[in-house]
Amino acid sequence: MNLVDVVKKIKEKLPVELVADQDNVGLIVGDYDDDCGTMIVAYELNGGVVDEAVNSASNLIVTYHTPLFRAVKSLTSSKSNPDPLLKAAQSRINVFAVHTALDVPSYGLNFDLASRLGLTGVRTLSALSGTLYKIVVFVPADHLDKVRDAMSRSGAGRIGNYTECSFAAEGEGSFLPGEGSSPFIGRPGKPERTSESRLEMVVEKSFAGKVIEAMLNAHPYEEVAYDIYALVNSSVNYGFGAVGELDEPLEVRRFLDRVKKVLGISSLRLSHIPESKVRKVALCAGSGMPFYRDAVREGADIFLTGDVKHHDFREARSGRTILADATHRATEKFAAELLHKILRETFEDRIVVSLSKHEYDSAVIY
Ligand SMILES: [Zn+2]
Repeated sequence: MNLVDVVKKIKEKLPVELVADQDNVGLIVGDYDDDCGTMIVAYELNGGVVDEAVNSASNLIVTYHTPLFRAVKSLTSSKSNPDPLLKAAQSRINVFAVHTALDVPSYGLNFDLASRLGLTGVRTLSALSGTLYKIVVFVPADHLDKVRDAMSRSGAGRIGNYTECSFAAEGEGSFLPGEGSSPFIGRPGKPERTSESRLEMVVEKSFAGKVIEAMLNAHPYEEVAYDIYALVNSSVNYGFGAVGELDEPLEVRRFLDRVKKVLGISSLRLSHIPESKVRKVALCAGSGMPFYRDAVREGADIFLTGDVKHHDFREARSGRTILADATHRATEKFAAELLHKILRETFEDRIVVSLSKHEYDSAVIY
């Protein structure tokens, strides 16, 4: 499969373009003319993963963490300090990173962790904003269903658990076909009035191009009249973190035991351990402190994340939401496994998708 098509398919499944403004995701190193028969999925890029790709003749690595986050001015390497990205490029291995594109969907990392912890009624903790468009198109009545179906199939009209959402109102369209035109209704030089429907559907930015292409293909007019509005509504489909409830309230210590067991860790850092029960749980894998206020606003009994600082704990101690740090790495423990599952389903038998055997820990524990 050509790398162009591989990248396209990953972007169709994971909203890479939706998060691209704030995160360095997508094809980090690559040659679009390459063909890919196998790919390796890994938590992040390091020498071991690149060696694994070389030894298994795989020319694509898909990582969760991006290997380039900040601006890079040079890429250098030596025996004592090898650079995995340079090594990948020298070995003609393409590298694609997904990072927050795996965090924000309801089938992503945070909802997966919430489900492993036994939460139900899970929803997004902090919805993305500035990602929704409204597409309005004027369609002759007998083509309304065809256009609406084509737009739905391409990703328009998805609102939470509802799909194919649209609104249509009857009205009158008017136009004057010019010289050289070939109108679907009427003829050149004759003013025309005809009944049309105003069809409205919401679409996430990442699907807009595909939806407009499908809408134009299904529409019978030579020149299609349509508008695209940027909405200020928050997304209902994508966001950071997750919040949900336990079926039964659990004593704080029992819930913390469950967290340790699921994440395979022996300790947690906490703001405080009140003698109360936990029912509502908010979480954000990785560095989730930017969403702590959202957890408090939600009235969560506990907020689970990583990378919590000393002063964050001090501040949280006086509140009712327990702040819990299970470490950045442990909260992202299932990232590669989930990415592997999603990509295996996406590519079925067209590409062999294997999970890296190279475990990586960000810090050594003594
Ligand atoms: Zn991370």
